[in-house]
Amino acid sequence: MNTKNKGFNTKLVHAGSYDDVFGSATTPIYQTSTFMFKNAQHGADCFAGKSDGYIYTRIGNPTINAFEDAVAELEHGFGGVATSSGMAAVSTVYMALLGKDKHIVCSSSVYGPSRGVLERDFSRYGVEMTFIDTSDLQQIKDAIKDNTSVLYIETPTNPTMQITDIEEASKIAHQHGVTVVVDNTFSSPYLQNPLVLGADVVLHSITKYINGHADIVGGVIVAKEEAMYKKIRGQMIYLGGNMDPHQAYMTHRGLKTLSLRMEKAEENAMKVAEYLEKHPKVEWILYPGLKSHPQHELAKKQMKGFSSMISFGLKGGLDAGRIVMDNVHLAGLAVSLGGVESLIQHPASMTHAGMSKEAREEAGITDGLVRYSVGIENVEDIIEDLEQAMAKI
Ligand SMILES: *Cc1c(COP(=O)(O)O)cnc(C)c1O
Repeated sequence: MNTKNKGFNTKLVHAGSYDDVFGSATTPIYQTSTFMFKNAQHGADCFAGKSDGYIYTRIGNPTINAFEDAVAELEHGFGGVATSSGMAAVSTVYMALLGKDKHIVCSSSVYGPSRGVLERDFSRYGVEMTFIDTSDLQQIKDAIKDNTSVLYIETPTNPTMQITDIEEASKIAHQHGVTVVVDNTFSSPYLQNPLVLGADVVLHSITKYINGHADIVGGVIVAKEEAMYKKIRGQMIYLGGNMDPHQAYMTHRGLKTLSLRMEKAEENAMKVAEYLEKHPKVEWILYPGLKSHPQHELAKKQMKGFSSMISFGLKGGLDAGRIVMDNVHLAGLAVSLGGVESLIQHPASMTHAGMSKEAREEAGITDGLVRYSVGIENVEDIIEDLEQAMAKI
């Protein structure tokens, strides 16, 4: 079904679908490593790009392509490339766009390993890097150099909830011929479309909101233009971080309910944030949906909603946070986010433990920061769970 001019929810359900020979209502799982050619000429034509037949699953597979097409359409891009994990998406993009003596400007408070792989590995290959607060446009202007090839933005940042103005940041980058990459994991295509705002490449850990059921690890990259899409697909094929057909099937299934899940999670998150903001034991809270968030207006401008990630600090710092994490029963104590279930975690000792304490503090990831991913349970139960855990401080 052609969903190009249809609404977002129609695209969620139908984009990427195709006419299967048996009329299957869902995308069949083509669990195969390779594809038979009709004859030697057909095989040669497939390799020469003269026939669009499938060759080998690392290069392309109908189940994976259906998912890629759906996300590309939701993100308003030319084409999508699905990967084995969110980090495979991040490193494939880095590999495609960076190289010896190239420079990347990156948000300082990004997903821990997205920064870690630059500092630990890409530095060994001669890539230069500058980490800044990209929510401050002046810092972007100051950081861009002659050899800068990539501006890498995460917004809202994980876990400090800083919002970068994608439109303005892209204008600055493009004046210098710099490619803009946005990690859109925290918002999902339902809340924010970076390519429409001016970015060149958008990527997701589909492990989070897109799949949404905490049963798949995966990633996807969408490029706005054909040339960039081809560059990234070529890189993925050589690096080998492709998604698996079963993974693609599961993720595509999860994708179909993205709007419903995000709406409910966000509605819950707003109530949980309001509850925490008034709680006498809470020292500070960051949720883009609250008027107290320093960039609430910018969030309203570039996002259709505020997602369901909350960071907060308790009076009594980490010790108090530990008591809450050890005493919640409904919320799971686990990393990851964006699933139907509520999860709580401590970035300084968990997701961002790989960063030096100095780098964490510079990025605003204090030892007392607790991160809560609000799920779609009954919000009274989520709040009651927090209430009894906070009573133990
Ligand atoms: C989880 C996450 C990643 C990495 O994704 P994996 O699927 O765990 O490899 C990248 N960026 C953000 C913002 C994330 O939350």
